[in-house]
Amino acid sequence: MIPAVRECIEQGGTVVTATRRLSRELRRQYDRAMVESGRAAWESADILPWGSWIRRCRDLGPGGYLADAPTVLTDSQLVLVWQDIIRDDVTRHHDGDSPLWNIEATARVAAGTLRLMREWCIDGDGLPPSRHPDHAGFRRWLSAYDRLCAERCWIDGHALADRLADTDLPAPGHPLVMAGFDTLTAQQQRFVERLVGRGGAVEVVPPRQGAFRDLPCHVLPTPEDQWRAAAAWALRRLDEDPDSRVAIVVPDLGSCREGLTAALMDSLAPGQVARPGVSRDLPFHVSLGDSLASHPVARSLMSLLGIFSRRHINLEQSESLLLSPWIAGHHEELARRARAALALRERLPWEHTVRDLSRGLGKLDCPHLCGLLERALALRNSLPARAPLAHWSVAMTGLADAFGWPGDGEALDSDQFQAWKSVREQVLGLGALELVSGNTGFARAAGLLGQLLESRTFQPEAGEARVQVLDIREASGLEFDHIWLADLIEERWPPVDVPDPFLPIPVQREAGCPGTDPGTDGQRAAIAHGRLAGSAAYLVQSRPEREGETPLIASPLVADCPRPAQAPEIAPTLFSGLGDPATRTDPVRDDRGPPHAGGQSHGGAGLIQRQSVCPRSAFLRDRLGARDHVFNRPGLDASSRGSLVHRTLERVWGRLEHSRALEAMDDSALEELILECIDQAARRYRATSSCGAGFFRAQREWLLETLCEWFGLERQRTRAFAVIGREQPVTLLLDGLELAFRIDRIDRFEDGSLALIDYKTGAGQSVEDWFHDRPREPQLPLYALSRECQGHAVSVVSYARVRLGECALAGFLDPARLGGEESLGAHPGLRVVPFRGPCADGDFSHWHRTLGALAREYLEGDARISPRGGGLCPDCPTPAFCRIPVNLPAGDREDRDG
Ligand code: SF4
Repeated sequence: MIPAVRECIEQGGTVVTATRRLSRELRRQYDRAMVESGRAAWESADILPWGSWIRRCRDLGPGGYLADAPTVLTDSQLVLVWQDIIRDDVTRHHDGDSPLWNIEATARVAAGTLRLMREWCIDGDGLPPSRHPDHAGFRRWLSAYDRLCAERCWIDGHALADRLADTDLPAPGHPLVMAGFDTLTAQQQRFVERLVGRGGAVEVVPPRQGAFRDLPCHVLPTPEDQWRAAAAWALRRLDEDPDSRVAIVVPDLGSCREGLTAALMDSLAPGQVARPGVSRDLPFHVSLGDSLASHPVARSLMSLLGIFSRRHINLEQSESLLLSPWIAGHHEELARRARAALALRERLPWEHTVRDLSRGLGKLDCPHLCGLLERALALRNSLPARAPLAHWSVAMTGLADAFGWPGDGEALDSDQFQAWKSVREQVLGLGALELVSGNTGFARAAGLLGQLLESRTFQPEAGEARVQVLDIREASGLEFDHIWLADLIEERWPPVDVPDPFLPIPVQREAGCPGTDPGTDGQRAAIAHGRLAGSAAYLVQSRPEREGETPLIASPLVADCPRPAQAPEIAPTLFSGLGDPATRTDPVRDDRGPPHAGGQSHGGAGLIQRQSVCPRSAFLRDRLGARDHVFNRPGLDASSRGSLVHRTLERVWGRLEHSRALEAMDDSALEELILECIDQAARRYRATSSCGAGFFRAQREWLLETLCEWFGLERQRTRAFAVIGREQPVTLLLDGLELAFRIDRIDRFEDGSLALIDYKTGAGQSVEDWFHDRPREPQLPLYALSRECQGHAVSVVSYARVRLGECALAGFLDPARLGGEESLGAHPGLRVVPFRGPCADGDFSHWHRTLGALAREYLEGDARISPRGGGLCPDCPTPAFCRIPVNLPAGDREDRDG
């Protein structure tokens, strides 16, 4: 323990620390020292962080030291006050047309600016006039805030030190030591000077500095190597001396938390990698947790409350309620709830009410969940439209209890239990915001709870872990036997603090704020670095050399450090260890299933397509019956739009039958026919869709325009044809596998030969790809084989791209029958070229061979994970079964319809 600190405690003095963590650590050290000295009882040491000490100063003495006894706003209250001020300002100055994207986020930044001003003694009244809209806006908000505080007798916690310094606060009658401060802020300095001026005995203990510039710095090839080297080093230190205090310190823990934690798990707790979440009693502790809102316990509560915040919920929300493990009866009813979730996808429209959901569930076999939902609904219906936040806090607790949150399955583990307790505290704490908010509705109250959860960091309490992982700022004042200081690269160290956006930079620079002067920032970083060197008997430094292909530059603080003679040991990863013959592993082959008996299949042309693109996908889908259950979303998805086009064309050609009928029809009659067919084809979509008439009007216009363009192209075909097949069912026996599918359209020319046409409403088809051994779209080659087997002459095989602005035929023709390239018409959109490559002369034996091979693979039970294109599987219908997929977002699939 630092001698000055110990002395101060023994004299009954107070120790004020830079961080809460240091307070805890010093208290622990003191208690340990008392035990070691044989004491059975002792007075607790008076050690507390700066903010708590300032509040205590305010509270000392009768009525406190501030004559007007202002109410101190918490950080959450402060942000809420600023939200209201900013919203009000936006309404006044921008006629309610907000130029800000996010008022909540702006309020958080503005509250941070206020804190900065307090810490660096920037006087709001002394801010120079500025035409910058952000600076001018902030000044208006600040004036409104000051007025409001004066009217309501509020003060923010950051201003307390200034107010106290200006009163006749007496100096403490006992020694005061300040520990762990690399540098004092202007506000702290002023406060200390006032105390000293009034005769106080205040000692600021400077951080012990150590030399680091001559110490070696390891250069590891990549960040991952660096984390694994640090993990191996920590393991070795603990092996040498299990009681040693070990720390891994980095400049920015947020940026490397994941990689560093994974490496430490592999080295220090390998058994727990395979059993995540079973026990968190880890030998290392990573500080600076994530936001409480991101914890599954918090998310589950927010989604429960979310379903009562709006008039309508959607299928996704309903499904997450049904499958939530955080509500009562999950384990008992899991299978029934999962089946009900699938059934509801078809029975409920995309948007529905909670009452609809409850009715729907009533007809399915989920009595427990139905009962919970009914109970919660009754409670929700008894709530007022608007109420104070304290009321909503009680109501939310009631709703959570009605659902049995957080579930009754397995007991919560320690992390989950602590998270549940923290979330509950935040729900109860919602009432405290009432001070700064009037009556609100339920949705607003739930939104405020979300903000509270977002602003809280969740760090589960753990026993005293043997290896501490810390951010440099957090390590302030702590002492260890061994420190590994990692990630010393230019972009992280010294930290790149950016100036505050709401204050003019010269003002910030003059006040000495971080991020405004590289020289001062560098000095501060050097002090912190030296402090770390002085906090441990042994300091190891490291940096990675590159990230991916990008070289990383050394931090200027270690740029001249020598490289150690010996490279550090790099711990193997758990998976690299699996290749070791010493590791017993029993491989299980899953790339082949039982052979297919042959004959009839149910997969159609899609089966060959799936086998072609990835055998595993075909096996899952066509042998095991795996299905991708998709939501019935509002509107028409790409596949429904494609079907609508198919159905309409089928009807139009059903009426026209021959190209001569098309030729003879004038434009307005054709338009009328198309519209009639669109209406007939759209009837089934209208009956099941939750979209209104306006949506279908727009779809009708779009389709009419597209089909007018398409028939404009068809009119330019020079050879007469009769449409003899529309969605024509056919069967093909391919190397023992019977496939049944439909051909979109078959035209017959006057010489009796056929044109096989596949409609496409998306883009990106490639006719050259038909000659690949594993074609992406083998439908047309399969159509051709099926007709050839029946003894028909096929003279054209072509995609018909029916897409507004891009209508075209694209495929091959048999020049022996139809002549040259121009034979379907002179229009560029009719560019059907002579058969070439392996199918030159209209010989389809290549397709017999390649597609036949795919059929045989399927029959043999081939189930290899072998996606064509090397691992990107955007269209896989069964991604949940596979660990390889990199699925593109739904929006990127739009153009891949049929
Ligand atoms: S996700 Fe990819 S690799 Fe897995 S089955 Fe689907 S296509 Fe094949």
